[in-house]
Amino acid sequence: MAAEWLLGEVDASIRSAGNYTGEVRAQFWNHTHEPDWVQRSVLVRIGGSDPLLAQEVVIIGAHLDSINVPEGPAQDYSKLKAPGANDNASGAAVLLEALRVLLQNNFIPKRTVEFQWYAAEEEGLRGSTDIANAYYNLGIKVISMVNFDMAAYSEGVRSVGLIENAFTEPTLTGFLRRLIEGYLVFNTTTTIDCPGGRCSDHVSFMDHGFPAASPVEPVINGVRHTEWDNMTIVNVEQLTEFTKLGISYVMEVGKVNAEGSGSSVSQLSLGFTATIIIFSSSHLLSRF
Ligand SMILES: [Zn+2]
Repeated sequence: MAAEWLLGEVDASIRSAGNYTGEVRAQFWNHTHEPDWVQRSVLVRIGGSDPLLAQEVVIIGAHLDSINVPEGPAQDYSKLKAPGANDNASGAAVLLEALRVLLQNNFIPKRTVEFQWYAAEEEGLRGSTDIANAYYNLGIKVISMVNFDMAAYSEGVRSVGLIENAFTEPTLTGFLRRLIEGYLVFNTTTTIDCPGGRCSDHVSFMDHGFPAASPVEPVINGVRHTEWDNMTIVNVEQLTEFTKLGISYVMEVGKVNAEGSGSSVSQLSLGFTATIIIFSSSHLLSRF
């Protein structure tokens, strides 16, 4: 039911931004070719206003599923409690809140911007693999993909983790570092690796050569994939910082005011266009 709830929240955000003058559309992505797989992904597309740049897509993503997999022998875990407050309601909430703030502030990008909430990440990046495959096959030019997976746990460390390994794109990761240093109160970064490398949905895009990066909590929590991944480990101040990162990424790469039409991540420029929205959004994360 997570996908249905999310689409309802997205629709409410769009409706409440009554004065929004851009082109925004929300929809399910059905993974219908897999009959045993019922969860849907959720997509929001904000059309680019520039005729040329609108063909380029800026993606911000997060998985919408959660899981509880106990240690020890294999068992049927489908009935176990998997609240997933941090993994990954936190990442899903970063996108929801960024979208709400951007629409309330009449955000109209030059490039097309997509918010994507993926089904079945915990079962092997299935939703994002399906979507990335489709975009590749359709020849869609994905400028960048930034993935939010676990954003709420901190252990008191006021920093933003950045996954840096063979499955993240160094230039885009460097650009996120500049956003963090330029826009956030938590203006330092912590390098995070993840065993095996293929640790979240950004990998699905990297597999097709689309530049992708993945901010993550600065200390990886020990309760993920258990029934104890609940609100008691959520740091709201940190979630706010991650939301500011999401907003600034979407605004800077989506190009609201910046001139030029550099079409690769190496040509991204920091225009500080997100400043006004971030600092005028006194209700940022008001839903928590
Ligand atoms: Zn996750």
